[in-house]
Amino acid sequence: MTKYIFVTGGVTSSLGKGIIAASLAKLLQSRGLKVTIQKFDPYINVDPGTLNPYEHGECFVTEDGAETDLDLGHYERFLNIFTSQANNVTTGRIYQTVINQEREGAYLGKTVQVIPHITDEIKRRMLLIGDTGKYDIVITEIGGTVGDIESLPFVEAVRQLQWEMEEEDCLVIHLTLIPYLKAAKELKTKPTQHSVKLMSENGVHPDIIVCRTERSLNQELRKKIALFCNVKTEAVIEAMDASSIYEVPLKMLNEGLDVIVLKKLKINGYSAPELGKWKEFLDKLKYPSGKVTIGLIGKYIELQDAYKSILESFVHAGAINECKVQIVNVHSEFITEENVAEKLGNLDGLLVAPGFGKRGVEGKIFAVQYAREKKLPFFGICLGMQMAAIEFARNILNLKDAHSTEMDENTSNPVIDLMEEQKSVTTKGGTMRLGSYPCELKSGTLANEIYGQSLISERHRHRWEFNNAYLDRFEKAGMIASGKNPATGLVEIIELKDHPFFIGVQYHPELKSTVENPQPIFVDFIKAARLFSQTKASEKG
Ligand code: GLN
Repeated sequence: MTKYIFVTGGVTSSLGKGIIAASLAKLLQSRGLKVTIQKFDPYINVDPGTLNPYEHGECFVTEDGAETDLDLGHYERFLNIFTSQANNVTTGRIYQTVINQEREGAYLGKTVQVIPHITDEIKRRMLLIGDTGKYDIVITEIGGTVGDIESLPFVEAVRQLQWEMEEEDCLVIHLTLIPYLKAAKELKTKPTQHSVKLMSENGVHPDIIVCRTERSLNQELRKKIALFCNVKTEAVIEAMDASSIYEVPLKMLNEGLDVIVLKKLKINGYSAPELGKWKEFLDKLKYPSGKVTIGLIGKYIELQDAYKSILESFVHAGAINECKVQIVNVHSEFITEENVAEKLGNLDGLLVAPGFGKRGVEGKIFAVQYAREKKLPFFGICLGMQMAAIEFARNILNLKDAHSTEMDENTSNPVIDLMEEQKSVTTKGGTMRLGSYPCELKSGTLANEIYGQSLISERHRHRWEFNNAYLDRFEKAGMIASGKNPATGLVEIIELKDHPFFIGVQYHPELKSTVENPQPIFVDFIKAARLFSQTKASEKG
């Protein structure tokens, strides 16, 4: 029998509901329970795939090719599980289903309404993963903030489910903010009281209040929150700001969040938390024995959420190498031939980020050239790989106008071209090459050495590809295709023979890095960067 936990947010957005939900899931998983998490987003886009990274951060792609909210990345990284299309549902998708059904005549004769039709569809999807019988607990994070008009149908669906289920099968956790007022030197509980009141007006009463706070809550304050929010004092959980998101599960363990959840859900016979690996990872993260500086070349660098999975992959890869990874963000729009050495001169490694459109690509190409010529460890992801191919074509093959047809439709050397199946695609949502594809690695290559196997599978999100008409010339001149899709022959990995570490991948390896399984290219890239930095230091004497 699957039990359900709903996580709502109050007072303000950006409180880290995803991290709290993932941390709780981790603790429950560490006690031997089968847990998964899903996210319901109140916006009207069918999925976040059509959203600009500035609006919503990175778009996380699942194995089955769903374009989803970045919180699913946290779920996978914390739990070391795969999520799927079913784990992320938006208002847009709910309405799309209901409206399609209406057109098919499923509600013939009836007025289609928010209650019951929209709420029924929300409830159906909230129970969908649990209905598979694979999980003991399904945690559902409700995006947005309680009080938003668009959140209302979701809160109503939770109310109905709570009413329909046995009391011990469902509980609600409300994440809220306890602001500290400097002038008054006091933590304030009023916004929390209001937000809980707002939920109660909608018929949902939280069982547990998790309080985000900069300062510790004393017993008196916990009692006050408990009294006004009508929960037991032990159900008031402090969530202090943490130096790393990976510390949050341990903080929640100290606060007893998992124990109170298990008690309320009347789950008995669970084991003690098995967090050995997690703690080992945290120890390595906290006490590194070395440091490397990696340049992240992108055009969305003002917003760190745009590269969330890449940054987290570096945290995982850094920890396993016991090496602090300092990321220097370099805006690709401002890199020129003249300033490239000055901007990249202090780096131990260079990652050219994924992206779309023309803005900033020339800067990326100068950065690749610098890494190639200076033998600086280089890692290109998706657009970054494509830029590496263009740089090689222009500067080594002497095809001066080589480009991707994404940026220049009329180039006479389209070394990166639109994939055949993309040529007839005109609609934007969910139409890229998405999700997991196999890739065969050539033996004796860097890619083969990194992965230690010959058949891998990684996730994709792109429309353009390496143009195989040029492959021969590339390979003869020293840039080889070390990974290919076995069915189509699409080039998935390129690397330079004559370079200590130069690799570009068409897929997104960052989407599969987890605390327990750091992604191998990131791990070896950090190793190469460390070697580069040590060699540099010894040369300086
Ligand atoms: N814009 C490129 C393409 O669609 C690269 C995409 C990416 O970096 N995710 O092929």
